[in-house]
Amino acid sequence: MHPLARLDLSCVWHPFTQMQDWLQREPIVISSGQGALLRDVRGRTYLDANSSIWTNLHGHRHPVLDRALSRQLKKIAHSSALGLANGPAALLASKLVAVANHGPARNSKNHPRLEKVFFSDDGSTAIEVALKLAYEFCRRTGRSRRPRFLSLDAAYHGDTVGAVSLGHIDLFHQRYQGLLFKSDKVMSPACYRCPYNRARPERADAREYRRCQWECIGELEKKFEAAKKRRNPITAFVFEPLIQGAAGMLAHPSGWLRQAAEIARGHGALLIADEVMTGFGRTGTEVRGQKSEVRGQKSWLGLFACQHEQVRPDFLALAKGLTGGYLPMAATLTTQTVFDAFLGEYKDYKTFFHGHSYTGNQLGAAAALASLEILSTPASQHARQALEQGMKQELADLWDSPNIGDIRQVGLVAGIELVSNWRTRQPFPPARQMGIRVCQSMARRGVLTRPIGNVIVLMPPYCTTRRQLQRMIEVLRESVQEVCG
Ligand code: PMP
Repeated sequence: MHPLARLDLSCVWHPFTQMQDWLQREPIVISSGQGALLRDVRGRTYLDANSSIWTNLHGHRHPVLDRALSRQLKKIAHSSALGLANGPAALLASKLVAVANHGPARNSKNHPRLEKVFFSDDGSTAIEVALKLAYEFCRRTGRSRRPRFLSLDAAYHGDTVGAVSLGHIDLFHQRYQGLLFKSDKVMSPACYRCPYNRARPERADAREYRRCQWECIGELEKKFEAAKKRRNPITAFVFEPLIQGAAGMLAHPSGWLRQAAEIARGHGALLIADEVMTGFGRTGTEVRGQKSEVRGQKSWLGLFACQHEQVRPDFLALAKGLTGGYLPMAATLTTQTVFDAFLGEYKDYKTFFHGHSYTGNQLGAAAALASLEILSTPASQHARQALEQGMKQELADLWDSPNIGDIRQVGLVAGIELVSNWRTRQPFPPARQMGIRVCQSMARRGVLTRPIGNVIVLMPPYCTTRRQLQRMIEVLRESVQEVCG
């Protein structure tokens, strides 16, 4: 066994991992990366098919990002944002405000501009900040004395206690009940396992939801109405726009987000958009069925999932891809109205009492600025368009596998759901660990990704070539065949 693998086994406790299983075999120890490739200490190379848990955008060791970090390192790595400002964080905040407000919002009264940026460290803290700000805002402005949050069934918004309170994945969240505050849930608009069973994704012509009557929207409306009748209205609606990641890459039908946002606004609820996974171009370059145009050097169209349906939330939580996948950094954007509710004389103690030691970290901000710069180039936009189309074409061939029930692609993200019978959509029992076994088989063939239950995630870095993409999908097909037989 490699000595570094032995060290890992002796001391490291890995996240979301049954360590009893982990200790049974020599782990892959990554030593370097280049583009879409990762290399381990034994010199084997792998394709990074989930962008290092959905963080990497432009590939590993991107020269622009590497240069930006080296330049920043010659100045300073970190100084505190408590009582001090710094250049990279200020520049980044202004750029984020610009990109977040890009494009038309449906109705500027209902979709106010995002003006302020609160930095933190990761997706969970970005959500935690939105949650606490929304809570305080609602209480201060008299909107509610006991603010209530609504999120989607199977929602996952992070692992801190506040973020877990908004989550509805029983396997992860139920066991912490005693620590959590109560939040409401509403059905997820996920067509494949829709209880009303209208969509037929397994059919070749089935992007149609012909007989669907938008029951998911009806259920959402009922939730808001029922809460209003009980005189305890929902004060904030939390959602992942277009696709729910950790829920199993549950893609939402086009138009759901826009309608849901209007209903929530109609009931006076704040909107909290969790774009931790979907942000920074992940959900593709097509805006409402039309390809966006590359206009000169700066075309930001469709960088955030909310913009695809012209929704502007009150809180926008960003992390993962913010730094191009280089460093842990997060941001929560909000409106001037929310910000103003925290202004006052010192003695009024209206301060937002929240902050982290590494808030506004210069290295992270330098990486994020460089990443935004890359995203704004026509070359990056063309590469994303090509990758999105390539994924669509290559994934289409998987439909004929008897153990693949559904293929859900939104932009540059795909979830491939394994089933024991595609006709009945019968899932594999979780104890069989089909997702884990398929991913282990893929790793042996040189492709790394991580499953969500029976769903295999494909989320390649934007620099992935067509050949690399073909290899990822070829390996996926072989592995499904090997494991599911
Ligand atoms: N929100 C979403 C939508 C996520 O996918 C994740 C992480 N998978 C989080 C929040 C939490 O982010 P982090 O792991 O960086 O805390």
